[in-house]
Amino acid sequence: MNDTQDFISAQAAVLRQVGGPLAVEPVRISMPKGDEVLIRIAGVGVCHTDLVCRDGFPVPLPIVLGHEGSGTVEAVGEQVRTLKPGDRVVLSFNSCGHCGNCHDGHPSNCLQMLPLNFGGAQRVDGGQVLDGAGHPVQSMFFGQSSFGTHAVAREINAVKVGDDLPLELLGPLGCGIQTGAGAAINSLGIGPGQSLAIFGGGGVGLSALLGARAVGADRVVVIEPNAARRALALELGASHALDPHAEGDLVAAIKAATGGGATHSLDTTGLPPVIGSAIACTLPGGTVGMVGLPAPDAPVPATLLDLLSKSVTLRPITEGDADPQRFIPRLLDFHRAGKFPFDRLITRYRFDQINEALHATEKGEAIKPVLVF
Ligand SMILES: [Zn+2]
Ligand SMILES: [Zn+2]
Repeated sequence: MNDTQDFISAQAAVLRQVGGPLAVEPVRISMPKGDEVLIRIAGVGVCHTDLVCRDGFPVPLPIVLGHEGSGTVEAVGEQVRTLKPGDRVVLSFNSCGHCGNCHDGHPSNCLQMLPLNFGGAQRVDGGQVLDGAGHPVQSMFFGQSSFGTHAVAREINAVKVGDDLPLELLGPLGCGIQTGAGAAINSLGIGPGQSLAIFGGGGVGLSALLGARAVGADRVVVIEPNAARRALALELGASHALDPHAEGDLVAAIKAATGGGATHSLDTTGLPPVIGSAIACTLPGGTVGMVGLPAPDAPVPATLLDLLSKSVTLRPITEGDADPQRFIPRLLDFHRAGKFPFDRLITRYRFDQINEALHATEKGEAIKPVLVF
């Protein structure tokens, strides 16, 4: 890949050391080959996984993070059949496309999920991203590395969308919003007459609320210490928003709010005591979904007898068990019908404010920052 004609010039936010900061630098990106697509990024969301990887979850350095990109196709590799230059796409997570789980429509359980998404994936035919000094920078984080003006993704994780929606705001549908809404709709299978207790009113928790309401869930209770987020939860259709620090008996309050107990609950915190409350407020036969990233040594906060006597199912969920090529268009249809106002979760930042946007995510000052180009 020494022929300069094979590269385009771009800007990307490069992480060079654990803890950051991310530096916006000029880079050169080799043109797409095989099943790859080159995207001009319109917007990219910031997700907690970007922070976790900045702060030491093992990824090869230097690297371009970013995994909630959206934009316009500029060029495609010779094997791409479903996309062409000018198409508008949302980028989602990477998957192999041919293992048993991918084949059965569950790419979030792809047997190659970790290596393909956390920086081990390589470009087709030795394609590269080079920094200003000509040194290689790891790309293909979540099959996209979209903290930049341009990114190379694959046909399998680039989801074509219509031109009737604001493209720059659609990227979070590829991860955080899909994770929350998919947890409620796909994994918990919530529906009319059922109730959901959501622990945590951040981007994933409120997306679960939107998803549950879109499919007609009856009562949705959001448990969240931040008053502004509780107020937003009520505006977005929660039947109750409870402050866990203000309730003397939180489990009793959730049971009262759900008419005796929730048919389903969802933890977005990864904290064992919170998951303990989720198990306690769920009706016998119910399911507790778990999407929060726990500490490596966090135990399951229940005895086997607790689980058996209540027949409660614990359900760890990755990426909302979504097949992005099917689920993202479904969420956009809900949005068009006025049933999925995900844009209410978004705060816009300029690309050069990227470290500020990451900080706002960390501090909980913004629910879902999106860097707009
Ligand atoms: Zn994410
Ligand atoms: Zn697979």
